[in-house]
Amino acid sequence: MTQDVWLSTHAYLQPVALLHAVVDIAAAGIPTEAPCVPIWDNYTVDFQKGVPLLESSATVIDLTAAERVVVLLVENLASAPLPGKVAEETRALDSELRCDPDAPRRAVAWLLDKDVYASACPGLLRYLGWTALARHFRPLVDAFAGWRDEERWLRSYCPTCGSRPSMAQLVGTDPGRLRLLSCGRCKTRWRYRRTGCPFCENHSDHRLAVLAVEGEGGLRIDYCEACRGYLKTYDGEGSEHVLLADWTSIHLDIIAHDRGLIRSAASLYEVS
Ligand SMILES: [Zn+2]
Ligand SMILES: [Zn+2]
Repeated sequence: MTQDVWLSTHAYLQPVALLHAVVDIAAAGIPTEAPCVPIWDNYTVDFQKGVPLLESSATVIDLTAAERVVVLLVENLASAPLPGKVAEETRALDSELRCDPDAPRRAVAWLLDKDVYASACPGLLRYLGWTALARHFRPLVDAFAGWRDEERWLRSYCPTCGSRPSMAQLVGTDPGRLRLLSCGRCKTRWRYRRTGCPFCENHSDHRLAVLAVEGEGGLRIDYCEACRGYLKTYDGEGSEHVLLADWTSIHLDIIAHDRGLIRSAASLYEVS
């Protein structure tokens, strides 16, 4: 499945696809400065206790470069051809991040859930900020995946940034079929129990109810009858790039929302 094929049958996603394309081009134009990979031994104890990598005080991850990429992305986009309201909000964010020298630090701390930051455009800042951060942290996320023993995490939140999963994916074949959870913010994917709800962590290990969606390339909605939390799930392999992107399945969020289900995961794409 390519993005073009997906968009040809989901024309209503075109505006968000166009926005993505402009943001991706702007992000690709920012010089990268890979974050230092921490000394993993220092983090082992926190990892075993369930402290996400970016929340651990045992690892010193310098965020100065991360702050710079967020500021640069917003600055590049302030003069990009964006649709009306987004263009306006991007310019507002750009001046907001410039007018106070401490704003970039506080904005990134807010994106990482470490501080409060009263942005005038929090939704757009979350989207642009995490687009820049996910790109910036990619080498760190990859190195972490290589080091991490998945069997020792199996938690319902992202081992890198602590976010709840935006989506899940079922991979492999029985009896070794696995469920991976996917972070909508930093794009980490990690293993979780095959059954059970990752939101209320209902330990009765009941199966989630499945809401199949016609003709959706293996996408479905799994939901918990106890807490009404739902998880968009990709039951397949090979089209992760398109089908795990979260925005490509916004229509599933709308279906779930209409049925009174609750999205517990942070979304970079607000659906109301
Ligand atoms: Zn994450
Ligand atoms: Zn639940």
